[in-house]
Order: sequence, then C-alpha cells, then structure tokens
Amino acid sequence: MNIAIDGPAGAGKSTVAQLVAQRLSLVYIDTGAMYRALAWAVLHHGVPVEDEAAVASLLRDSAISLKRTPSGQIVLWNGEDITSQIRTPKVSHHASIVASYPQVREQMLQLQRAMAAEGNVVMDGRDIGTHVLPDADVKIFLTASVEERARRRLAELQQQGLDVDLESLRQEIAERDRRDSERTVAPLRRAEDAHLVDTTGLEVHEVVERVLQICKQTGEQGS
Ligand code: C5P
Repeated sequence: MNIAIDGPAGAGKSTVAQLVAQRLSLVYIDTGAMYRALAWAVLHHGVPVEDEAAVASLLRDSAISLKRTPSGQIVLWNGEDITSQIRTPKVSHHASIVASYPQVREQMLQLQRAMAAEGNVVMDGRDIGTHVLPDADVKIFLTASVEERARRRLAELQQQGLDVDLESLRQEIAERDRRDSERTVAPLRRAEDAHLVDTTGLEVHEVVERVLQICKQTGEQGS
C-alpha cells in the first residue's frame, strides 16, 4: 500500500504521516525535508536563491538522503546530518522559493519516485497525490486554519528552543501557502480523489484514527 498525504504548511502532515506509517508498518518519507535540505545547502554555500540554474546545479551536485533511526527520520546532505538545522523560518522561506523552480522539481520527482519504488510508503508533501504518486492507494489532503497552523508551529519551534513570535509565523505560513499554491509547476492542490481531513480543533490521535479508518475502508473496497 502507498499513502499520499498532502496539505499546506503546518497542517500536521509529518506528525500524522509518521504515526500512520508506524501503525501500518510502512516507510515514512518526508519530501518537505528534501526541499528544506536543498534550501539549507543554498544558504550554507551562499548560492543566490533567485538563480534557478545555480540552485538546480547545486542539487545535481548534492546527495540528499533520508535515513530512519530509532529516534526518527534524519536528513543527510552529502553525508552530513542537518536534521536540526532545517526547521527554522529562514530555511522554510527559502524551501518554498527553491520548490517553485521546475528544474528543481523535476530532479526531486525522480529522487522521490525512486525512494517509493519498492512500495509500502507513506509520503507527505504538497504534490504527492497529484504528481509524485498519482496512483497511490490512499490520498489524504490535510488542512487546518492558518491561525491553528501558526499556533502549532510556534509550539514546535519553542520546544526546539527557537525564539519566534506568533504573528510573524502566521505571516510566513500565509506567504508560503500563497507561493506553494500559485506556482506553475505542481502547485499545492487537493487531488480529485483525495480525502479532505480538516484537523482544526482535532487532537493528533483523532486525525491518525481518521486516516487509518480511511485506509481500512479503501482496503475493504479494494478486496
Ligand atoms: O512540508 P514542509 O513545510 O517541510 O515543506 C517545506 C517546503 O517545501 C514547502 O513550503 C513547499 O514549498 C516545499 N514542498 C513542495 N513539495 C513537496 C514538499 C514540500 O513544494 N512535496
């Protein structure tokens, strides 16, 4: 079984996708972490983010990989563990810029499809159900109000000891939503056959149960 989970920033995709993967013994693949790794490399190497060709060439020369460890998924860039450095608002902002480049998306698409080639994955992102895995068995579109998503991100970042304020996070999320939805290549949108799950006001375990229920129903219909 392959499960595609898409939705806007901060809708809880990665938390939910990880838990669903655990419950169903599937492999979790966080595609946002790959765009974040590229954004981190752009910043780290001082590559001008507005230069699509330079960013795409940096990606060609980079090895981005996701590795499972007992404490969760880690992100490696040329073998270096950069997991703790890719969640800052600055990296988020740059990630949504590099993700708007067709030359970048084409390379990421190949990488992500290769990762999912063996099947049995839960993949989360923006274009999984629409582009990366259009034949996924189950497609979920997770969403929540901007206010709630900003509050969740604030709690997450504060836990990591980062100093950010709610209003600037709300603005950053709204701006990323706009850029992700308006780009010409693989914009954020709900696939026609995706189940919409609005997580506003729901606890994580309630969302996970809802997704598992959808998977079960889909399995029953298919058998
Ligand atoms: O999901 P996350 O917030 O970590 O993603 C960071 C950025 O990467 C998003 O704002 C989006 O621009 C980009 N992204 C994408 N397609 C994906 C996953 C992430 O464009 N499949």
